[in-house]
Amino acid sequence: MIEFRGVTKHFGQTQVLKDINLTIRKGEVVVIIGPSGSGKSTLLRCINRLEEVTDGELTVNGASVTAKRTDINKLRKEIGMVFQHFNLYPHMRVLDNITLAPMKVLKMPPAEAQQLARSYLAKVGIPEKADAYPSQLSGGQQQRVAIARGLAMKPAVMLFDEPTSALDPEMIGEVLDVMKTLAREGMTMVVVTHEMGFAKEVADRIVFMDQGQIVEEAPPSQFFTSPRETRTQQFLNRLL
Ligand code: ADP
Ligand code: MG
Repeated sequence: MIEFRGVTKHFGQTQVLKDINLTIRKGEVVVIIGPSGSGKSTLLRCINRLEEVTDGELTVNGASVTAKRTDINKLRKEIGMVFQHFNLYPHMRVLDNITLAPMKVLKMPPAEAQQLARSYLAKVGIPEKADAYPSQLSGGQQQRVAIARGLAMKPAVMLFDEPTSALDPEMIGEVLDVMKTLAREGMTMVVVTHEMGFAKEVADRIVFMDQGQIVEEAPPSQFFTSPRETRTQQFLNRLL
């Protein structure tokens, strides 16, 4: 579904991704962890070309993200993204936040888009919030709307960049629960998170990044109990 081959990324003189090789298969849940500034967000953002890679090959569903001729809008339809800050449109009702892209980009008729939006709102557990404005919702509810909005494009992959980091502790669980449900249903997911409980329970694979490199990747059972690399051990020890 997603393949990085020798991907590098520079911001000016600074190299923030170094020779990234990573394959994510359909239906896999891959959790990316690592210290702040290690390149996790940049790696995610390269997948839908919010950042241009400097060198190497990156494909999504067989289509090159890096090639000039690739239709980037078509590619982005395949990729849902949820950010730390929910980025909802504040002046639009919840329902309109969700129907906007399906109507504009997929040319879905309004009635169909609304029906779909309501079904995703039910899926994330807040069917009664369709007519509310984002400011009337808690952070956890806003993030669930953001997830519903991503799902409404029926993407092949969902990317999550620290989706619970801006939330009050009591709201983290409700967002993680929605993500767990998606994972169980077979959604291909790449998740940057500090929630190690979620990583242990849900991830098929953990990818540990440090200083722009993938230091280690392993299934959670192995990763958390017997990490191979010293840098991984140090990172995990600091979490305890
Ligand atoms: P993480 O998500 O792991 O905290 P990021 O991918 O956000 O790391 O950042 C990796 C490195 O790239 C950091 O050193 C950061 O300062 C730098 N960086 C990120 N975005 C930009 C940018 N737009 N311009 C310059 N440097 C950036
Ligand atoms: Mg980040």
